[in-house]
Amino acid sequence: MVNDFAATGLASGRNDYRIIPTVVPTIQNPDLRRALAERIRYYNELGIYDFYRREGKSETIEAEPPVLTSEDPREEMPARKSAIAPKPADASVLEVLTPTAEQTVTDPVAALKLIREDLGDCTRCKLHQQGRKQIVFGVGNPHADLMFVGEGPGADEDAQGEPFVGRAGQLLNNMIKAMGIRREDVYIANVVKCRPPGNRTPERDECDTCSPFLMRQIAAIKPKVIVALGAVAAKNMLAINAPMSELRGRFYDFMPSGARSSDPAWQGAKLAVTYHPAFLLRDPRQKGEAWKDLQMVMKYLGLKPPPKPAE
Ligand code: SF4
Repeated sequence: MVNDFAATGLASGRNDYRIIPTVVPTIQNPDLRRALAERIRYYNELGIYDFYRREGKSETIEAEPPVLTSEDPREEMPARKSAIAPKPADASVLEVLTPTAEQTVTDPVAALKLIREDLGDCTRCKLHQQGRKQIVFGVGNPHADLMFVGEGPGADEDAQGEPFVGRAGQLLNNMIKAMGIRREDVYIANVVKCRPPGNRTPERDECDTCSPFLMRQIAAIKPKVIVALGAVAAKNMLAINAPMSELRGRFYDFMPSGARSSDPAWQGAKLAVTYHPAFLLRDPRQKGEAWKDLQMVMKYLGLKPPPKPAE
């Protein structure tokens, strides 16, 4: 099936990436490993399952990031080292997640409002002092079945306070339209909510600091499907270190880490990965591949492309 969005692409092809094998991070110290397992078991017995890592020095083994050669490093940025990177087993080894305000409300509109209030005039990471004009929280239908997540705001988004409003946003709008729905039907957000200077890739600490708010947005909206746009979003959400060619083409079961929905019936979302629209603008040959990703999502959601207008 070809539509206007896909038809604008040339013959699809794959980037030729060369990956030098990485070292998988592990906890080498057996005492530390044992102490950590005991601590987790103890909290599990109390009925506590959600944990997150506190920033600071750690004895965990550092993994070498993969060395990649690519025409587009953004599409192949190294993933975070591990979804779980435990610290030594002292009293602060694990921080128990306390309930957040939005968990007390079931209405996603009210929940998103509470999350936005909690974010405030955020200064939690260094992006707040690197030239941002405003925080770009997210936009769209709080009841959406489908969410798109990019990496961070660019200049247009920073100026307008809304994600995906520049040229890449126009292409994303076309992609959404090609799926037979409207931009207003979906929810759009980013991993970081402040513009990295010069549109650089957001750094690991910035993503780690800001992404809990994205996780809370996802838990509030409870989408059926999330589409991660580009390698930065995909690798931050999935904590998988793999090239785009391997990340794409399948669904992942996704539950936002560290955030719980107020609806116990919501069992998480399916997450699909596709190319960032900005990347597709630079390499339109990949539009056909992106369209395949979107078709997979459409099939899952029962969406049909809009009928072609009569000639
Ligand atoms: S990027 Fe996120 S964590 Fe950093 S200052 Fe902006 S809103 Fe706060």
